[in-house]
Amino acid sequence: MFRKILYPTDFSDVSKNALSYLKQLKKSGVEEIFVLHVIDKRDVQFSYLYLFDESSPDGNLEQKLKDEATRELKEIEGKLKEWGFKVLSRVKLGSPIKEILSAEQKEDISIIVIGSHGKSNIEEMLLGSVSENIIRKCKKPVLVVKR
Ligand code: ATP
Ligand code: MN
Repeated sequence: MFRKILYPTDFSDVSKNALSYLKQLKKSGVEEIFVLHVIDKRDVQFSYLYLFDESSPDGNLEQKLKDEATRELKEIEGKLKEWGFKVLSRVKLGSPIKEILSAEQKEDISIIVIGSHGKSNIEEMLLGSVSENIIRKCKKPVLVVKR
């Protein structure tokens, strides 16, 4: 029923809670996992405008974020492969909501596994803005892993 999972991650604790569920989903026939991290373009622009960062605005900050994300993805990819999944992982630069929805359409996804919250994890929020928008706009079923 669920052959291929889309697992978008911001590397937050909540989003990493999803890993134990991914592992268990192997038993229900899941073969493949597409792991997606999106570097939020607005965060990068915000940093250039307002924060002092050693990186010059020639793409160094972007490169730093990409390298870090690639490292995190490799770690997750290793675990998932150990558990017997076929894995594809990608880092994108842009809007997390747009990129997740676009991956859902392009990648023949059966189900999306997402955290209820992410890096901000604000106490009063029922859902984070990314998970809320994905649940509203995506076409496929969603498994929301709680904090
Ligand atoms: P907000 O971002 O609205 O302040 P938050 O950080 O607590 O709130 P979300 O960003 O909505 O919550 O995160 C919910 C889930 O969405 C995460 O657990 C993760 O699965 C996914 N997600 C969030 N940001 C990204 C991202 N940049 N790339 C990939 N997946 C993401
Ligand atoms: Mn967030």
